[in-house]
Amino acid sequence: MFGWIVAAWTLGVGFAVYLGWHGWHLAELLHWLALPRQRTLPIAWGRWGRAFDRLSRFIREEFEARSNMAAELERVRAAVHRMPDSLIVLDRSNQIEWYNRAAEGLLAIVGIRRPIYHFVRDPEFNTWLEDGAGAPLELTLPQRPGHLFLVRMFRSDETHRLLIAHDITEQRRLDAMRRDFVANISHEIRTPLTVISGFVETMLDLDLDDDSRRQYLDAIGKQSDTMRRLIEDLLILAKLEHDLPRDFENTPIDIHDLLTILVGDAQALSGGRHQISLRLSGPQWLKADALDLQTVVRNLLTNAVRYTPEGGQVTVDWERQGTEGVLCVRDTGIGIAAEHIPRLTERFYRVDRGRSRDSGGTGLGLAIVKHALQRYGATLEITSKLGHGSCFSIQWPAERLATERKQGD
Ligand code: ADP
Repeated sequence: MFGWIVAAWTLGVGFAVYLGWHGWHLAELLHWLALPRQRTLPIAWGRWGRAFDRLSRFIREEFEARSNMAAELERVRAAVHRMPDSLIVLDRSNQIEWYNRAAEGLLAIVGIRRPIYHFVRDPEFNTWLEDGAGAPLELTLPQRPGHLFLVRMFRSDETHRLLIAHDITEQRRLDAMRRDFVANISHEIRTPLTVISGFVETMLDLDLDDDSRRQYLDAIGKQSDTMRRLIEDLLILAKLEHDLPRDFENTPIDIHDLLTILVGDAQALSGGRHQISLRLSGPQWLKADALDLQTVVRNLLTNAVRYTPEGGQVTVDWERQGTEGVLCVRDTGIGIAAEHIPRLTERFYRVDRGRSRDSGGTGLGLAIVKHALQRYGATLEITSKLGHGSCFSIQWPAERLATERKQGD
């Protein structure tokens, strides 16, 4: 009997201890749950220890996932704000819900929950928005005079729409340039072709004597030369625009030698009609591609000879000015009126179209010079006085000059 009592008492005490142990851990857990999340879980043993360990691992993983998500969100937010396009989210009544920095700068938006019409006051835009925006809209804004924007709209969910405004001013300018360029080339090629086909027809129709036949063939030859030069210049220009500069860093070229040869060529072109002189006081070596340099100087010298009447002078000067090297091609020719000077390096720009063509010009020479010089950080300066002559001067930056051939090897 006594044994039963002791056993029951022991069981009762054990059960009470067991309940107390669980109750204590439960109270610890409830207490912990009431505290801020960052606190570590209390120490526990046995099953409670394992449960607490799992709980704390779960919390740690959840915390890491949240921080990763927050960092990701911050990266996306920063990228969206850095976008050059303007982004605006509208609710179903066209009130602004969110916008990026570009939109803030473009439209001077000063906060959310305002109708977009407050910032874009354009009836065409309003109609476009009300119609549910089918095709993208081209829009000008008084806030950015001279700029053209393409606005697109996307449904982001049931109640929200996303507006994206992209500045297409530069794109339109390039499109217009490309169209002009194609129109110009077509015109430049059609002109000699028309002349050639005219002569060919005449030669086929008429019974010509030998002299006339030679004259016609001569004229055809000249027009073919013009077309060949035009195509050659177009290819040079295309190469300069698209190819990377050749490796010229380690191989300075002898500019004294090169200028001497090119001045000789110009004298041959002039055929003794001009006095052409060369002065060389600048450094002997220039870090540039010989072909590029030849193209540049030959174009300037050919122009100087072509646009200088007989008896005139052409001078080529290579000198050091401060840290720079300056190459100057000066003539005493017809000169250029001031209003034309800023446009001379545009493709196909000519002061006198007839004169340029008659002397074999393609209208691309100075565009080629400009593009070739851009590769070297060199600049072209043009000064001229109508009726008195012109000066085309190239400034070469100090890092392009070399005192020895081996420099940079
Ligand atoms: P072009 O083949 O017509 O000479 P360029 O691009 O070389 O084309 O030159 C553009 C225009 O600049 C020429 O048509 C000409 O009117 C003017 N020009 C260039 N060089 C001279 C110069 N040395 N003297 C006077 N005009 C010049």
